[in-house]
Amino acid sequence: IFQLSLPLNFLGTIYREMRQNLLDMEVLFKLVEQNPPPRDKLDARPLDLRGGAIRFENVSFGYHPDRPIFRNLSFSIPAGKKVAIVGPSGCGKSTVFRLLYRFYDPSSGKIFIDDQDVQFLQLESIRKVVGVVPQDTPLFHSDIMHNVRYGRLDATDEEVIEATKKANVHDTITKLPEGYATKVGERGLMISGGEKQRLAVARVMLRDPPILFFDEATSALDAHTEAELMRNINNTLLDKARTSIFIAHRLRTVVEADLIIVFRDGEVVEQGSHEELLRKGGLYHSMWLQQASDAFKDDRPEDVIS
Ligand code: ATP
Repeated sequence: IFQLSLPLNFLGTIYREMRQNLLDMEVLFKLVEQNPPPRDKLDARPLDLRGGAIRFENVSFGYHPDRPIFRNLSFSIPAGKKVAIVGPSGCGKSTVFRLLYRFYDPSSGKIFIDDQDVQFLQLESIRKVVGVVPQDTPLFHSDIMHNVRYGRLDATDEEVIEATKKANVHDTITKLPEGYATKVGERGLMISGGEKQRLAVARVMLRDPPILFFDEATSALDAHTEAELMRNINNTLLDKARTSIFIAHRLRTVVEADLIIVFRDGEVVEQGSHEELLRKGGLYHSMWLQQASDAFKDDRPEDVIS
């Protein structure tokens, strides 16, 4: 009896597992049905890019219906300007980019690029002109040369190296035993968050997109490397008219932005230049004071000045 009950128990376990998996799949399909990824409308047109101005008009959105992130969010990003979006963690800064890129569609409201409603545009034509340096850059299991070249597949080795030099990561790469042939990504060499982000900057430099999103990593770079990277970004990616949006955690990286938009709880609470916002004495001002005093506490006063 014992010999017989063991396999039966085992079969029972398998049956319960399978049933659970089927239930999980059902839930998954329901979720996908409720929230299908955006697709092109039948009569979708390609984006006619003029200057790359972006406008959110009364946008409401939540990843889950019962947890809204934005309620009637409106703001404008002028063409060819450097704009920073700042605000407390989790207030929806990165979500702005996900909506523009159409990973998701808003539940109401509209998003425009150069006065064209993105809902009626071909997804691919949007994604072609928007370049992103994400917080955490996915790397393929392949060598570094290939990983950077992914930004523009027909780039020559020289162009890849030029980009990594500008992104301040060439020296690090050449110090690796196999240099540009070093395998990274899954099962490859582990590289730091900061190096990853600099590889992502090199990738984007090769792509040279008219609209650039830079999602600053929360803690990847030390103050010195960050200052150098920002200098390089300023000299290379911002050397020509390009709409660039910096989602920033450290306010010192946004001081020179043409416009700073301050978010709280999915709303724009204030906007202006660094000086204007400091004079206003609102949320930006208190965030600035907070970060300055944190930097002093850490005994790193250079963070405040740079
Ligand atoms: P941080 O400054 O920490 O990077 P953020 O302001 O960029 O945050 P978002 O990443 O836009 O914030 O996220 C806004 C809110 O939505 C957060 O509460 C987050 O937990 C939630 N969220 C983000 N992505 C998803 C997702 N894919 N599914 C469900 N909730 C999500």
